[in-house]
Amino acid sequence: MKKLILFLSVTLIAKECYCWGFFGHRKINHHAVYLLPPEMMVLYKPHIDFLTEHAVDPDKRRYAIPEEGPRHYIDIDRYGKYPYDSLPSKWNDAVAKYSEDTINAHGVVPWWVQTMLYRLTDAFKEKSQAKILKLSAEIGHYIADAHVPIHASSNHNGQYTNQKGIHGFGKAVYRNYWPTSNGISSSVKPNT
Ligand SMILES: [Zn+2]
Repeated sequence: MKKLILFLSVTLIAKECYCWGFFGHRKINHHAVYLLPPEMMVLYKPHIDFLTEHAVDPDKRRYAIPEEGPRHYIDIDRYGKYPYDSLPSKWNDAVAKYSEDTINAHGVVPWWVQTMLYRLTDAFKEKSQAKILKLSAEIGHYIADAHVPIHASSNHNGQYTNQKGIHGFGKAVYRNYWPTSNGISSSVKPNT
């Protein structure tokens, strides 16, 4: 019974606390397939359900793998001011400049997307369809996370600006105003 409660707690917390939410991540991967060039669509479109469903795998393992957490965000304001051009784009250079502990503490999503890209490229070279689909579903997740505005700031929950709870609020807004496939309506209409 305890195990069941723990499992449900972790599952529900994972579902509610992070990123675009499971709903958003699935939508993003699903729509991304339709933006691919025709040559790639041939491979990806028949597996759109897999790519949609597995869009959320990286969030599901955040509690199981300690190093998973920093892969989903970057507190980029910790590295000076926009456009942050003193922050090295290569992992080894960034570690040499700031130390691995510091980099991990502030999130690693830009470098992790690079790592996933290398792995995906290798999977294509190996012609391993299973690996290509798994890595594609997951790189879609990390790229989507890198585009959550509050995943790129140390003030990710409004805690420094008297806006505590903005993370969850933002996700609710994304869900309610998500465009439909015809690009027009949303589940809740904004007040005009
Ligand atoms: Zn995530």
